[in-house]
This record gives sequence, C-alpha cells and structure tokens, in this order.
Amino acid sequence: MFSRRDMLAATAVGGAVTAATMTTANATPVKSDITFGNPNDPPQGAINAKNPRSITDPGPQNPAIRDQFPGAFSPPATDVGSMPLSWASFNNAPRRIQNGGWARQVTQDSFAVADTISGVNMRLTSGGIREMHWHQFAEWAYMTYGTCRITVLDELGRPYIADVKEGDLWYFPAGLPHSLQGLGPDGCEFLICFDEGKASEFTTLLVSEWFTHTPPDILADNFGVPAETFQDIPLRDLYIFQGQLPGDLAADREAVSGKGAPPHPFTFSLGSGAPARETKGGSVRIADSRNFTVSTTIAAALVTVHPGGLREMHWHPNADEWQYWIKGKGQMTVFNTGPNAVTMDFNAGDIGYVKKNLGHYIKNTGDTDLQFLEVFRAPYFADVSLSDWISRTPPAMVAQHLNVSEATIAKFPKDKPEVMPS
Ligand code: MN
Ligand code: MN
Repeated sequence: MFSRRDMLAATAVGGAVTAATMTTANATPVKSDITFGNPNDPPQGAINAKNPRSITDPGPQNPAIRDQFPGAFSPPATDVGSMPLSWASFNNAPRRIQNGGWARQVTQDSFAVADTISGVNMRLTSGGIREMHWHQFAEWAYMTYGTCRITVLDELGRPYIADVKEGDLWYFPAGLPHSLQGLGPDGCEFLICFDEGKASEFTTLLVSEWFTHTPPDILADNFGVPAETFQDIPLRDLYIFQGQLPGDLAADREAVSGKGAPPHPFTFSLGSGAPARETKGGSVRIADSRNFTVSTTIAAALVTVHPGGLREMHWHPNADEWQYWIKGKGQMTVFNTGPNAVTMDFNAGDIGYVKKNLGHYIKNTGDTDLQFLEVFRAPYFADVSLSDWISRTPPAMVAQHLNVSEATIAKFPKDKPEVMPS
C-alpha cells in the first residue's frame, strides 16, 4: 500500500511540500501509513492500483471528449466521494441562429446545481440587433469580442446609450427595457448572466410581440395616432435580426436627450481597469456594487492565471460562484464535508459552478494564460483565503493541527495572494 509519505516523495516538485516538512513539526506522531483519499475507504486513484489493468477502459468511449477531462478519467488520489457536476458548457448548447446573429444558453434546466445564475452566449453581426425587450431578472454581461451599442431606459425615463468593447460590462436591473446592436466591422460576441438560475433568454418580453398582440385601436389610443400607422408591424417576434448600423454615438444620445443621464452608469470597463490584486502568478479584477454601482445583484472577478499558476485555495462566504471560462485551460477541485473532493477540467466556453462556502482551487494546466470569470449573485465580491486564515491564526494553534513547524508556517503567504505564486 502506498503511503502519504510515498506519495509526497513521488510527486514533490521543487519548492513544494516535502515529506520532511510534514514530519518535523512537533511530537505529535504522524501516521505515515495513511493513504490518500478517504482513509475509511479502500485507497483510490491510479497510483494505488497495484494491478495495472485496474486503470484501463476496454469499453465504448469517445476519446475526443474523454481526453478533455483527465481529472475525471484519472482523478487525483486525494479525490473522494461525489457531488453534483460542477461542469457545463456553451460548446454543446444548441445555437438559435437567426439572420443577424445567434444565441445559446445554459439554464438550471440543463445544469441542475446552478440555481442562482443562468448564462447566455450571444453573437450579433455588424448591424445585427437583439430586439428591444425587458425581463423579470437583472442582466449582467461581459464582452468577449468586437463592439456593441446598448440602449436602456431607467424608471424615471432617463435613457442611457453606450458603446462597449471587449472586457466591458453592462448591467440592466430587472424590468428596465433595453436593446443591443453589433457595430462594425464584425459585430460582437458576449456573455450574459441572469441573476436567477431558471431565467431563460428565450422567454423575454419582446416589443414586437406586445405590439402584435394589442388591438390596433388601442395602439392608436396609446400613441395618439391613427390605427393605420401600425398596419406594417411584424406579425411575429424578431428576437435577433439584421439591421442597419447606427449613426455615431453622440447623435444617438442627442436624439433622446432631455431628461438627463441616469446617476449610475449601466456600463463598466472591467478588462482594461487596474487589477485589484496582481502577483507573479496572475491577477484579479473585480467589479461589484462598490465600483460598478448599478450592479447591485451581481459581483464578478476576472481572473488571469499564468502558466503554472494557481487560483489559491479559498471559498466564498456570501454566494455561489458561476464561472465562465474565457481562454486557456485549467483544473478545479471542489471540497465539501463528507469528505468529498472532486476534480474537473475546463476549457474555453465552459461553465463551472461552486456552491457557497465550498473550498476550491484552480490550477492552470495549459501552457498559455488561463482566464475566467467568477460571477456571484451578490452585491459585492467576497472570498476567504485558506493561506490567509492559516497565517492569521496563532502559529502555535496552526502547528498543533498540521504538524508543520512554526518556522515553516511563517513562510506561508500572509497577504491573500488570490493567485500563486505571490
Ligand atoms: Mn435582455
Ligand atoms: Mn472562487
């Protein structure tokens, strides 16, 4: 039987924890025969399989999919138990394609664990319009490509019009009506998050449908013009359609001016802003109601992890985390009582989910920068760092738990790095 000491010797890399640091702390005996995984179970993981045939898979399989999930096909020996799948993806979500662009979504219907947020991925061509509409839930968006013009009206009749680019956000409070249009030269693509897991992009309140389903004489009364004015309105919804490119932004704003601007901007530059934290390992940019004041129900962190880096072991005390994986590749392990520890792999276009307060970390497993969004249904971003906790607890207390010397504990990060190495 492999021991934890054997495992450390086999897997230790330069500077990492070694068997020596595990055993020199104090007089508390170390059970060096403890295996990885749940010690109450037979040892798990490929390294514990004495018979090499234990890890083969003669049965039907799809290598193209299997090989994207090495953490599931051959979990770390420390993984144990099970929990609801933390992985979903836009890559296999059906695209609703119309002339002018497309949309696809992942709601709680297909991703059961994600009850706080649903996600939409949308593409609009140059001039392509997502028709004027509103809905029951707040809409938060992150631009991943191109440029887009957004329009929105607040409840006091104050319009807001802005052009957004890659790395920018918008936030529309529930019920405020809005439109989106791709700009030149090649439109845009973006992510939308609704602050409700069941929210569907395909059940929004559409301006075309309300006109279609209102008697012409009511439309005449409502707008103070003859009923014939509306003889050419569309008889079915538009949703996404190819439109004409708008004029310049100043002209669009001037055309609807008069009541002043809303007090809180509905857009925010996240990608081009200063990082809240930057280390050798990467950076974290944060947008929440403290700097993006209108965004009272969604907080987000844009995380970049350089090759070899680690989004540190942490949890979030105030909300579930919904992730959008933008580029690169990584592996996340989620820890829960039980014990349960489950590892999953993620690539661009994938979605991850971690319930509130469950421990997790993300390793960049590729050779390029990994970038992903952490999105929370919360007014502000909050996380608790394991190393911060360990280094802000009296060393004697920590040493008695971990059998690690106080001298070694003194070397742990003390400044909540967010991304390691610090
Ligand atoms: Mn919308
Ligand atoms: Mn997190």
